[in-house]
Amino acid sequence: MVKLTAYGGVFEIGGNKILLQDGDTKIFLDFGVSFNAEAEYFSGAISPRKVNGIGDYLEFGILPRLEGLYAHELIKQTEIPLKPTEYRAVIVSHAHADHVGYVQFLDASIPVHCGETSKIILSALSESGAVDLSPSLLRGFRTGDKIKVDDIEVEPIHVDHSIPGAYGFIIHTSEGTIVYTGDLRLHGAAANLTEEFVGKAAEQHPTVLLCEGTRVGQEESYKLRSEMEVKEAANKVVSNTSKLVATSFYGRDIDRLNTFYSVAAANNRKFIISMKTALLLTKLQEDIHLSIPDVLHDENILVYKKRKKTGAYDERDYYKWERPYLNKAIDHKYVHDHQSTVIIAIEPSNFAELVDIRPDPGGHYIYSMSEPHSELEVVDEEIQKNWLTHFAMELHQIHASGHAPQKDIGNIIDDIKPKTLIPIHTECPDKFKYLPKREPPKVMILQKSITETIP
Ligand SMILES: [Zn+2]
Repeated sequence: MVKLTAYGGVFEIGGNKILLQDGDTKIFLDFGVSFNAEAEYFSGAISPRKVNGIGDYLEFGILPRLEGLYAHELIKQTEIPLKPTEYRAVIVSHAHADHVGYVQFLDASIPVHCGETSKIILSALSESGAVDLSPSLLRGFRTGDKIKVDDIEVEPIHVDHSIPGAYGFIIHTSEGTIVYTGDLRLHGAAANLTEEFVGKAAEQHPTVLLCEGTRVGQEESYKLRSEMEVKEAANKVVSNTSKLVATSFYGRDIDRLNTFYSVAAANNRKFIISMKTALLLTKLQEDIHLSIPDVLHDENILVYKKRKKTGAYDERDYYKWERPYLNKAIDHKYVHDHQSTVIIAIEPSNFAELVDIRPDPGGHYIYSMSEPHSELEVVDEEIQKNWLTHFAMELHQIHASGHAPQKDIGNIIDDIKPKTLIPIHTECPDKFKYLPKREPPKVMILQKSITETIP
């Protein structure tokens, strides 16, 4: 018998934690942060206490109370008995926090499989202190690999999403094939990857399709764009001004980074990135499958150094991982003096750098992110408005989603033709029954923590 239990990722966007059981074999598909569940009890001021392990998460059902799953150190003070693990693998679709963020809490003896690119991204994030995960525990895969876990065989196939190295899975079980989309889109820079996944999934005539639906039933508040249209719109802003252009996008969205990099180059502006992004790009150089600017040698890229401790830009004020970039790093004064010849990527958490930079009135700010569920870094709209008004900067919202719109999801379901369709990563699972146009599959709506047997 094959069973599925969603401990997250149902009636919510993100937080995917889907347990697949085939006989005695148990594997998790993703083990991500549930931002919504966390936000019900925790905010900037109230955060889970490290001293209580994962006790504060268990209290509010943010993490499931399962035995043999978590690191013993983290459950010592809870009523969960310490037991050897019963879980044979966690298979991670991509390196967004809502898919991988809670892996740090797991028993280290559970093998965690993720794409080779995700491994690089996670190791860069761990080096810069952005995630608390030991990269040595990760086992990398690529398209074409097969992960055997007892009688379960998982075939990862690349898909296009707003982070490189994203995968969907074709999972062969004793009761037929289950397809898991992870997060995907067809309007990005590499739609062919998603098309290949959909084609291969269709060939298997799957019993079940676990399909993401971030944008299903959602009111779209921003203009729908492709990555190409983002480039055109951003270029229009930049080519019509001689003032400073600042932009915020998710640091891990390499497509977006390449978009702004080329808009900068096309307008004879240098592109300024943060130290964190510089580290990520340097690490991703190893990945021959990606087109990544070489931070240390590319003259079109500059790295922003923040004022720290002594304020004298002393090398010792910077972390070890930041020091290689100091040679080509520039400070706020440089940005102020070169407003017409740079584009600066500014992470929301670094907004206060604008105080030092002192942009001349009439500058432009391109907000190029709008999916708060995939990462924590979002700017409160009101606060953003206050800052931009203060510095007399004009706001432009230019973004392309990491997720397929409803219409594309309908086509994907039609193409894959599963017997049973299970909506995940969506707030509107009920809407899925209206999506397919041809022979609609049976729609099965999972309830959080309730185990269902695959028909
Ligand atoms: Zn994602």
